[in-house]
Amino acid sequence: MQVESYKMITIEDLIEKISSYHPSPDVSLLRRAYRFSHEAHYSQKRREGTPYIGHPLSVASILADMHMDTTTIVSGLLHDTVEDAGTDLREIEELFGSEVAFLVDSLTKLGRIRFRTKEEAQAENFRKMFLAMAEDIRVILIKFADRLHNMRTLQHLPPGKQRRIARETLEIYAPLANRLGIGWMRIEFEDLSFKYLMPDVYEGLLKKVALRREEQEGYINEVAEQLKERLRAQEIPGEVTGRVKHLYGIYRKMQSRKVPFDQIYDVLGLRIITDTKTHCYGIMGIIHSLWTPVPGRFKDYIALPKSNMYQSLHTSVIGPKGQRVEFQIRTREMHRIAEEGIAAHWIYKENGRVPRKDTRHIKWLRDIIQSQKDLGDAREFLEVVKGEVVPEVVYVFTPRGEIKELPAESTPVDFAYSIHTEVGHRCVGAKVNGRIVPLRYHLQSGDTVEIITSPAHGPSKDWLKFVVTQRAKSRIKHWIKTEERKQSLELGNRILETEFRKRGLSPGLLKSPEMEEIAGSFSMKSTEDLIISVGYGKVSAHQVANRLQPGRKEEEELPLKRHVRKEAEVKGISIKGIDNILYHTARCCYPVPGDPLVGFVTRGKGVTIHRRDCPNLERLAVDDARLVEVDWVSGGDATSTTKLFIETMDRPGMLANLSTLISSMNVNITHLEASSTQDRRAHFTFLLEVNDRAQLVRLTQKIASTEGVLRVRR
Ligand code: MN
Repeated sequence: MQVESYKMITIEDLIEKISSYHPSPDVSLLRRAYRFSHEAHYSQKRREGTPYIGHPLSVASILADMHMDTTTIVSGLLHDTVEDAGTDLREIEELFGSEVAFLVDSLTKLGRIRFRTKEEAQAENFRKMFLAMAEDIRVILIKFADRLHNMRTLQHLPPGKQRRIARETLEIYAPLANRLGIGWMRIEFEDLSFKYLMPDVYEGLLKKVALRREEQEGYINEVAEQLKERLRAQEIPGEVTGRVKHLYGIYRKMQSRKVPFDQIYDVLGLRIITDTKTHCYGIMGIIHSLWTPVPGRFKDYIALPKSNMYQSLHTSVIGPKGQRVEFQIRTREMHRIAEEGIAAHWIYKENGRVPRKDTRHIKWLRDIIQSQKDLGDAREFLEVVKGEVVPEVVYVFTPRGEIKELPAESTPVDFAYSIHTEVGHRCVGAKVNGRIVPLRYHLQSGDTVEIITSPAHGPSKDWLKFVVTQRAKSRIKHWIKTEERKQSLELGNRILETEFRKRGLSPGLLKSPEMEEIAGSFSMKSTEDLIISVGYGKVSAHQVANRLQPGRKEEEELPLKRHVRKEAEVKGISIKGIDNILYHTARCCYPVPGDPLVGFVTRGKGVTIHRRDCPNLERLAVDDARLVEVDWVSGGDATSTTKLFIETMDRPGMLANLSTLISSMNVNITHLEASSTQDRRAHFTFLLEVNDRAQLVRLTQKIASTEGVLRVRR
């Protein structure tokens, strides 16, 4: 299939080549595409000084070698017009149709991905990305042809660039060609890359192989003749040809087996092409009866095809003079697939029409594989290609340039959990390509994602609404569950201890066997579950204590006993009975030290502290089991935030007066909202930091007695 690289191909050559396999190619379309490309690239030259048009013509010619359809070849002619010559894609669509425009556009986009080839693992990810980005198999084939022509003309580039392109070809293109089963192209990619990456090793090996060939040619021919004779005698059709292993294949074998060239026995081998599968096995039988097979060298890729659809029988024997000879036996069809791979499945329609949209999708590759009889192998192949050809994935980069594969619609939170569970838990924000994005942002292929973490942070229940990966979901759920249990257990313990003390019971009872029995009577599996239920507010401490003291008379739990204290004593915000528990003061009534309180047990978020006279309490108190007795204790010197609403006459200086007054009492203003009404009144809402209720009362009185103030209330 190799094309002479120095000879400039003409459009006439191309048309002739297409005509060799296509009954009636659209010649005028091909000519139009050629002229269009020629004009677009008119002022451009290739590095070697030849007109640029030689490149798209060569690419189209390689595609014709692969017997591609006209649409593909036309796209090959136009593949660089948008990226390199600035042609408008709409123009291409108008002149050549949407299918060609789609292929050219995909190629342009694919060309923009930077393959920063690094380690092997990275290369594998790039291969996956490559496949995912190319929705149509023809995009890949045109890209391959493009790369192949560039590799064939690589000598015109400076050495640094040669090596970069060669490495990329070896790491990305060759393995992909192998995976798609295009044997001849993989070999050419590998040998050309090898030549530029390790010129000395390449040259050395080239000479050794030539020498070996000279030495063994006669011998190989002798073996071939003996075999042919037997085939004739048994009337089995078979074309016997000599084959030379490609240089990079030899090099790789030497590397992986750590052996010198002398110990590579399959440099020269024989290939037999026959008509049927049965004859393949028959021929193998003949070979094994003529010479002794080398144990462990027989491979049946007919019964068990390789994942890239390759089929063949391989065997090695000890030949006439005690020398090893390797054989490959296959049918003509198997040979075609070994050479052309996925391109062999390119069913060329007689009427010249390209396959329909759904069939042209790379998905059909999977279907072909799926229909193969050997399920085990097909399944394995599917595992391998799942992430590659199913477009429902995105490939994103870490700030260090590593690639992560995630399902489509993944968010920065999914990404964070894919890095590490802790990164997920501590995630508070994300930057994509340097810009802050919401956590529910849908990641796009090619995005660079940076996660902002905070050690004090934990996951939110809301995340479950938008994460898509199973990993993130299960980690978040697990965290929430654990956290809620932990808090509820602690809270339940405190509530029960308080209740027990109040009744003169020992808190030690919580660990007693009686408690286990009581847990059972509540249909709980363990004491811990019971305590958690108390912490969740499902069971009240009262109910539990009553079962411990069955004779005891029911006690009114609400209204709560008021703890009378001297105002001077009341300071700080520790909560009596359940201190060190997660609690927060309610945002509806802003209690301050000195206010009578009620605690409300939330589901999994600790206790909310309300003022006893909070209007919301009535609604919440429906579930009595969830109310707990709490009170302030003296000792602390922290301040509490509270809200004060003031209505005044709308006159200048009012706000300044109020602010001065508040500050003069050593009260800090943390937030202020002001508005005026239509009836010339002003409304102020202050958030204030006060020490206690006494201070707040004094402040309220002073404000109320200020001139112009109509009303003050909390
Ligand atoms: Mn190109």
